[in-house]
Amino acid sequence: MRVLAIGAHPDDLEHQCGGTLARYAAEGHEVVMAHLCNGNKGGTNVTSEELAVTREQEARDAAAVIGAEAVGGLFGDLEAFLTEEKMIQVVDLIREAQPDVILTHHPDDYMNDHIGTSQLVFAAAFAATPPLMKTHVDKIVGIVPMYYFSPTDGHGFLPTEYVDITDFIETKKQMVLAHRSQIAWIRDHHGMADLEARIEAVGRFWGGQCNCTFAEPFALVRASGRARAFRILP
Ligand SMILES: [Zn+2]
Repeated sequence: MRVLAIGAHPDDLEHQCGGTLARYAAEGHEVVMAHLCNGNKGGTNVTSEELAVTREQEARDAAAVIGAEAVGGLFGDLEAFLTEEKMIQVVDLIREAQPDVILTHHPDDYMNDHIGTSQLVFAAAFAATPPLMKTHVDKIVGIVPMYYFSPTDGHGFLPTEYVDITDFIETKKQMVLAHRSQIAWIRDHHGMADLEARIEAVGRFWGGQCNCTFAEPFALVRASGRARAFRILP
């Protein structure tokens, strides 16, 4: 399969579904990791332009850990709003990726780029399918199953499926830590002091719900009918 994961910022996918993407890749699937925003406001003591360059490189480094392709950077940070123009940009991203499954943010998350990304992807995933929807990319895609991964802090999230990432927890940490510019930023701005301990704690929490050591949770998006008959997640 071709797996398309779409996050708001470089590093969101690594935190929320990095283990699952690592497992998809290890099982022979092609993984495309997209970030809609370029990360240009997630730091201090640096210009937005410099930071965007750094974060693009970090996104590529993190994707390279599992042999995935990193794409995106369509908008600046805090610009992921559902507008027709931006939806068409996401349609083109989806049409280029030709996915068999899409993973993205839950529509109820802690900040607007995550919510906006969820809304944009939900809208674009269907808008990418009709041949009469003309955009810059002259390829269409079918209606594919879509899953939301957990909101950043997991509050209120009711998974419908879990992925056992026990064998991929170290790979997940490696992917998160490839975002070197974010380690101090997340500590100081978000109050997350020990990223590796947090990744383990969150993984154990979800793992405890499905009887494995480390897991990541997902909720199947409505109208993803085919995924109700077949297991699409690894
Ligand atoms: Zn984010």
